[in-house]
Amino acid sequence: MSELSAGLDIPDISDSSPGPVPVVAVVGRPNVGKSTLVNRIIGRRQAVVEDVPGVTRDRVPYDAQWNGRHFTVVDTGGWEPDARDRAAAIAAQAEIAVQTADVVVFVVDVTVGATDVDEAAVKMLRRSHKPVILVANKADNASLEMEAVSLWSLGLGEPHPISALHGRGSGDLLDDILAALPDPPPIVEGGPRGPRRVALVGRPNVGKSSLLNKLSKEERAVVDSVAGTTVDPVDSLVEMDGEVWQFVDTAGLRKRVNQASGTEYYASLRTAGAVEAAEVAVVLLDAAEVISEQDQRVLTQVVEAGRALVIAFNKWDLVDADRRIYLDKEIDRELKRIPWAIRVNISAKTGRAVDKLAPALRRSLDSWEQRVSTGALNQWLTALTQATPHPVRGGRAPRVLFATQAGVAPPRFVLFTTGPLDAGYLRFIERKLREEFGFEGSPIELSVKPRK
Ligand code: GDP
Ligand code: GDP
Repeated sequence: MSELSAGLDIPDISDSSPGPVPVVAVVGRPNVGKSTLVNRIIGRRQAVVEDVPGVTRDRVPYDAQWNGRHFTVVDTGGWEPDARDRAAAIAAQAEIAVQTADVVVFVVDVTVGATDVDEAAVKMLRRSHKPVILVANKADNASLEMEAVSLWSLGLGEPHPISALHGRGSGDLLDDILAALPDPPPIVEGGPRGPRRVALVGRPNVGKSSLLNKLSKEERAVVDSVAGTTVDPVDSLVEMDGEVWQFVDTAGLRKRVNQASGTEYYASLRTAGAVEAAEVAVVLLDAAEVISEQDQRVLTQVVEAGRALVIAFNKWDLVDADRRIYLDKEIDRELKRIPWAIRVNISAKTGRAVDKLAPALRRSLDSWEQRVSTGALNQWLTALTQATPHPVRGGRAPRVLFATQAGVAPPRFVLFTTGPLDAGYLRFIERKLREEFGFEGSPIELSVKPRK
């Protein structure tokens, strides 16, 4: 990746739009007028080309605003499908911009019409499944405006004829861009969001209802009516460590209906439902008993759903010195695939260490929502892949060109490579990624995009 990333400062698209600010990527062949359009969108408050020393104008994010709505607009370099070297990197940048965007503005030069390159770009845009707004630029006059209808052939819906240079049609375009953006998050009175949602799961008899009872008893204030939230009647609000938490899908636990009808099938359905509704799961294991296959299945459900995870070894009051030594070995062996899970040793019966739960939940949720800047990510990745390149396979070693964090909750990373990577090498990268950036308590997803 070195030769590509060295001369290119990779955009921090993710960091330029913290929280809910939506991202609009402007994509198209070179010279169709992308920068001119970006200038138009940002109202020429910032010069795109000249005034940013040392920064090439490809893939630069700018803050923009229209009708009171803020968004980030990303100017990408010209997209060319078969480009090599630097141009290939720019094309890849455009693809990343598309992946991280909420809406893509695809610019075509109406004086030229749709070219093969435009058609290839359309394929790439289709793969992204992002909303695309087709712009027929350089429609400087009424007759050129008419030409725009020919661009229906691209299959991207109605072409928007504009003149980025003169401003013609740009207001309507901005209205349509705004309409395509995701709805702004609702403003909740009295706080940014409701309580964090927790799934309390584990095989029958590990102590779920005992723990819920214990937590509910320690609840100081009754928290039925937390302002601005609607709590499902099957959920329980519990106060821990000065914060209200929403334990989801706990009706069954309270009523203890599980025991009698508790076939494993229904237990696992209940687990799936609760995990799906939650942000973080507490998986209860019985510390006095051997970690079973059913325990493993619950853990797998949480990891595969991509939720943050805290493992609570319950019934710690029953653990003696011998069991403890044995348990350590068991943990090494049985939980090897999730070394990142946060573990707490508790007793729902005595209340031992139950106060450790809230801090553990917070830590894993922080990891779950953690973002690594593209700059820091690639700096680290360059060093790592230079020190330990991918092993040679059939005379060739695939290289990792660069990476971006495509999302959070859970953190998702995309690696752009010259070819498929060995599963072992991918695991190595994940392990090192965790060593460097943490992510304790959260699953992370790595996907590989080999360059065609
Ligand atoms: P990019 O490479 O896609 O970013 O294209 P630029 O924004 O740099 O524009 C390429 C050329 O097209 C420049 O000479 C612009 O002045 C010109 N251009 C951009 N938009 C328009 C337009 O609406 N009408 C006309 N006539 N020229 C335009
Ligand atoms: P659930 O099926 O997961 O909801 O488990 P329960 O809460 O019904 O607990 C099953 C059994 O384990 C009950 O007899 C509890 O009293 C017991 N139990 C739960 N937590 C603890 C604990 O921390 N220590 C001990 N010794 N027993 C516990």
